[in-house]
Amino acid sequence: MVVTGASRGIGRGIAEIFGRHGGRIVVAARGREGAELVAGGITEAGGEALAVACDVADPSQARALAEAAEQHFGGIDILCANAGIFPAAPLASMTPEQWDEVLDTNLKGGFLAVSACLPALRRSPYGRIVLTSSITGPVTGYPGWSHYGASKAGQLGFMRTAAIELAPCGITVNAVLPGNIATEGLAANGEAYLAEMASAIPLRRLGSAADIANAALFLASDEAAYITGQTLVVDGGQTLPEG
Ligand code: NAP
Repeated sequence: MVVTGASRGIGRGIAEIFGRHGGRIVVAARGREGAELVAGGITEAGGEALAVACDVADPSQARALAEAAEQHFGGIDILCANAGIFPAAPLASMTPEQWDEVLDTNLKGGFLAVSACLPALRRSPYGRIVLTSSITGPVTGYPGWSHYGASKAGQLGFMRTAAIELAPCGITVNAVLPGNIATEGLAANGEAYLAEMASAIPLRRLGSAADIANAALFLASDEAAYITGQTLVVDGGQTLPEG
């Protein structure tokens, strides 16, 4: 399987949990060192993993990632397209470059990863694609993240048509929508943001990478074989309260 954005945070959690369940994991991120650390940890724990440096926003690097997975493990049956960035930028001062950076990574990068892995996924008797979207965009809004929200909502539009197109090949395409998950990326928003978020969540804590990884594990399992084009919100109830 291939996990993009797997050198830390949610992607790392996904790679590690699938590794513990016997998956043979390609750990992909732009930074080779971080990817190698995660792959090394999975191997030390008795699993199988390969680190690949890849910027998913670059079509040739996405293709090279899929080729490396095929060469090393003989195929791809599961893709977790998770790589994403969330730099805040108020709309009034947002530049087209800032918009493009977020859309290129989060939306186009997901498409490029799917498209690169598709030939191998088609050959697999067990094709699964799990996208990491977000509550931000599909369900909620948050100041500073209009570009991010657009990218995450866009992923769901992509998912629904991809699910229809790929169903005849037996490939399912679903998305996990995390709430606020305690990751290195989220920590960059500062203590005040984290505290505000935790207090607004009915389950009274930020989510963990494992909370999201378990949802991805389910969507990639035999038990989820008849589920496609669907979203699974994992947010501790954050989007439930009225008013
Ligand atoms: P994170 O801690 O910042 O980790 C991001 C991962 O993606 C890193 O491994 C990073 O490694 C990689 N990455 C970034 N840009 C990349 C690119 N162009 N190509 C390949 N890899 C790339 O972020 P996170 O919090 O785990 O978020 C992961 C995903 O969950 C994102 O899609 C995010 O939108 C989504 N999400 C997160 C939260 C949350 O609360 N944390 C909530 C909702 C949704 P390199 O920098 O080395 O490339």
